[in-house]
Amino acid sequence: MRIITVLIFLAVAFSSKAQTIYDIIIRNGKIIDGSGNNWYYSDVAIQDGKIVSISRSINQPAKRIIDAKGLIIAPGFIDVHTHLEGDEDKDPEAKSFIYDGVTTCVTGNCGSSHVDIGKYLRWVDSLKTSINIATLVGHNDVREAAMGKANRDATPQEMEQMKLLVEKAMKDGAVGLSTGLIYTPGVYSKTPEITELAKVAAKFNGLYATHMRDEGDSIEGAVNEALTIGREAKIPVEISHYKISGQQNWGKSKITVPLIDAARKEGLEVTIDQYPYTASSTTIGQLIPDEILADGEDSVKARLQNPQTRKYVVNYMLERLKKRKLKHFAYVVVAYHSADTTYNGKSVEEINLMKGRKHKAKDEAETVIDIMVNGGASAVFHGMSEDDIKRIMKYPFNMFASDATIRVLGRGMPHPRGYGTNARILSKYVREEKWLRWKRLSAG
Ligand SMILES: [Zn+2]
Repeated sequence: MRIITVLIFLAVAFSSKAQTIYDIIIRNGKIIDGSGNNWYYSDVAIQDGKIVSISRSINQPAKRIIDAKGLIIAPGFIDVHTHLEGDEDKDPEAKSFIYDGVTTCVTGNCGSSHVDIGKYLRWVDSLKTSINIATLVGHNDVREAAMGKANRDATPQEMEQMKLLVEKAMKDGAVGLSTGLIYTPGVYSKTPEITELAKVAAKFNGLYATHMRDEGDSIEGAVNEALTIGREAKIPVEISHYKISGQQNWGKSKITVPLIDAARKEGLEVTIDQYPYTASSTTIGQLIPDEILADGEDSVKARLQNPQTRKYVVNYMLERLKKRKLKHFAYVVVAYHSADTTYNGKSVEEINLMKGRKHKAKDEAETVIDIMVNGGASAVFHGMSEDDIKRIMKYPFNMFASDATIRVLGRGMPHPRGYGTNARILSKYVREEKWLRWKRLSAG
């Protein structure tokens, strides 16, 4: 069974003209409308970019007729977790999303967004992107605007400034506040700071979307922090890319999914999203201790060139590798390193050997530090289990989301989720493995 997504809103405006010639009629398809209804057979008529009629049999003429026999017709998908920042104008057609059925993206996730949301929304409007774009306001950028990348609590004045920035962003059209609590400078903030800012977003009916402080060893504490913020700020919580990271933590979804379920039973409005892959993707800097990453790029470079600090960082990385029960950094694959593109698509283990270094984790850690000193890299981390993914997938208040930007074909070796999130859900988990049912896809 294939699926057609209708690349327009489902806002149905019924036309009263008897002899309209429609632009398009899609005939004979099964409709799954995304509202939780069962599928049904119907024709769909489109005029001036809008659906104007959904009816069992539409007999009027049309300029174009699409026969959808044996196919499913669905409204364009909403991708609630994307990172478009910096790539919006690279391909305004956003083909990597459109071909995956996505017509609306929520960006500004993981604490990273524009701070002036009004200006941002006017700019994306002018690009005439084929996708609709909504944005969150990111805590990391708000914090950086108020106090740089300092590794400390905010002063009362800085707190006030952050609140004003969030308030302005919400008034300008942000849909909520996001955090990225593993990234600088958000990683240096404590729960009360976020709660205060979430209260501001709540005043404007926003939601709180979070890349939690931990997705592995301390994940239960991180989930509880997100729920506490929801409870205290009285704000709906959306936990981003729900996963279990690190080989030593596999199976923990048996604990973390019920945590969400219990919160909902308590009356908290909490949802999660997920991409259907066993590898994550982020900056390679995630292998480096948080305190080394403070105060901006120059400070980070200076620290990493100090032999004492290098030693400390290498030991930290080796310790964490051991925890994962791994001997090499083969699970980390460079997606894009601008200083040397021959690294793209190769694991840290391979890059280390390519540089003629010893086949030892210690040397691989040094290689990672060198990559950091030379501008860093985006990387794909193979660290999840299929069982956890499938368990999270079954949870009804989970949404599928790519966690991707607009991909430009042929650039780097990015994570496939930027092209294939929904295609993979529909082909692998619905059609082939029958792990999810079509109806389930429209029920959550
Ligand atoms: Zn994230």
